[in-house]
Amino acid sequence: MADASSAHARPVQEQAYYGDTYITDTEAYVVASSGSVGEGDDGGTSPWIAVSPNIFHPQGGGQPSDEGTVDGGPVTPGRNDEGLVILTGDALSGSRLSIGDAVQCSVDADKRRLHAALHTAGHVLGALGEARGWRHSGHSHFPGQARLDFDPEGHEDELATPELREAVRAELQAGMDQALATRGAVTASMDENGHRTVTIEGVNAEPCGGTHVRSLADLTNVRILEVKIKRGAIKVRYEAEHA
Ligand SMILES: [Zn+2]
Repeated sequence: MADASSAHARPVQEQAYYGDTYITDTEAYVVASSGSVGEGDDGGTSPWIAVSPNIFHPQGGGQPSDEGTVDGGPVTPGRNDEGLVILTGDALSGSRLSIGDAVQCSVDADKRRLHAALHTAGHVLGALGEARGWRHSGHSHFPGQARLDFDPEGHEDELATPELREAVRAELQAGMDQALATRGAVTASMDENGHRTVTIEGVNAEPCGGTHVRSLADLTNVRILEVKIKRGAIKVRYEAEHA
């Protein structure tokens, strides 16, 4: 008896960005495309391809999408219902790419490095907040608006005045500086179920699908900008750059 699911078997896509944040150019092969699935399966008219190895990080977990190109044409990565990272873009309209074709992929290296720096600094800030007994409730790692949110319940008093909030901000900055000075390694591992864990040496380990720097020594100009309570959350704004 043939495997009844084989007609819709998920193509194998190696997520190269999981293994190495710094691969920003590679040759890859088309493993699926909007032309290779049943009509309407992509739920839209915009053509797409999926390639492997895939170096494009799709938006998720508070981290923005990479920007990049396939064969020189701009593409935007996203994730489809099957969990594949798919690439869309005007350049793919009318392209004759089929499964097995080789393509040249590039991502914007400066943006990749900045996103990885902001995101990794976010892990450290999350750990510093949790060390204060705050419960992490949300985050954005977008450039210019990076912040972590924590549940304020039970912590209103310690943040009741501008002076107290500034004192907490300074403590978080000191904790950040101390963590960065350890230059701890950042590593990732994948279990047999495809669950990825990111470990920052001396800081913490948590499930994550984002891109990260190699070690805390890769971070610079990490600044805790503000601590405030707004719309039912402790919001800690920060910025970071890649060294
Ligand atoms: Zn992460």
